[in-house]
Amino acid sequence: MDIILIDGKVYEWLEKTSNKMNNSDRAIRIDLLAKTEGLKSAEKYFDNLQGTAKTKKTYGALLNCYCKEIFLEKALNLFERMKELRLSSTLNYNNMMSLYLNLDKPEKVPILAEEMEWENIIFDLYTYNQIMNSYASLKNFDAVEGVIEKMNKNKVMFDWFTLGNLAKIYTNASLFKKANATLDNMEKLENLRDREAFHILITLYAQTSNLDGVNRSWDSLKLVGMTNNVNTYLNRPKYTKDYIDGVKLFVRKAMANYATEEEIKCPCRKCENRLWWSAGDVESHLICSGPSMSFIKWIYDVTLLIDKTDNMDFEPNPGFGDNLDEMLDVTHGNMGPNADARKFYRLINDGKQPLYPGCKNFSRLSFLVMLYHWKCLNGVTKSAFEELLQLLK
Ligand SMILES: [Zn+2]
Repeated sequence: MDIILIDGKVYEWLEKTSNKMNNSDRAIRIDLLAKTEGLKSAEKYFDNLQGTAKTKKTYGALLNCYCKEIFLEKALNLFERMKELRLSSTLNYNNMMSLYLNLDKPEKVPILAEEMEWENIIFDLYTYNQIMNSYASLKNFDAVEGVIEKMNKNKVMFDWFTLGNLAKIYTNASLFKKANATLDNMEKLENLRDREAFHILITLYAQTSNLDGVNRSWDSLKLVGMTNNVNTYLNRPKYTKDYIDGVKLFVRKAMANYATEEEIKCPCRKCENRLWWSAGDVESHLICSGPSMSFIKWIYDVTLLIDKTDNMDFEPNPGFGDNLDEMLDVTHGNMGPNADARKFYRLINDGKQPLYPGCKNFSRLSFLVMLYHWKCLNGVTKSAFEELLQLLK
């Protein structure tokens, strides 16, 4: 809040001392004024703008404020004026659609979509998502499918957000088969790296009682966490846990794959892969002297090797490996202990068997706590969660 206030002052100062403000600056100013001094202030500022400063951007900023604050009348009046001036854009239509969805008037959204088509205003992914959501609220799932057909016809690339949204629509409508097919497509997206995407996968697979899906997504999430960590550990200071853990993992992988008589080439700054040392020596070289710049890529490649000794103990952040106390802590930290949680812990108190025979990564308990964590964060319904627990038994 302080920063915003300071920003507000900066804009005031900018405007008084120079005419360097452009229309994007003015649009930001409108937004800031609405946040700090209220809508009245933003409106006054907009009204006092010279004609040339009343553009797509400044109009759009004010409309955005009205939509966020859910002032339907004001938003409608302004939007009509913008349309008359031929200033309306995809963004403005998206704002109006959100406003109607927030006001629980989903039936208005398809009308806006039609208008956009009529005016040749292109849909972006957000537009498509809001149209889908409106049809879902109206329980018109054929129309939801129609939106997808249209996206396919227009060769729109589905991102994980859209697929996640669609899967959620299907899940909420108990169309589990379709939900799972959509989640499957989401899993197959190239370069799926976003944690949030995996959280959605895990949650929705859980809600549709697809345990295989939950396991698969959880493994992928761990792998992504591992890859993210591994790809950066050499940039971290040499005394940090990330760095040291990374080095240890590298040494273990190198020993498993490249050792000759219990020694590996040392890629430290001094040895530069010319000298052979034991695991302990290479580890301390890398921690004391640091890696040779010429071998950074090789070190990462080796660290990322997956072999039979790999039990993925390089944990994603925040590590939900098998450290139960830590996990309970994280869960408590976010949600606060409550009666439900205590009951849950009692319920699974006997869960210290492996998740499945031979599984070394998780005990049932740790896996369930991980799931419970997601239940809390994502508001999975009690019945859906209990159904999943039944499956696990
Ligand atoms: Zn060395």
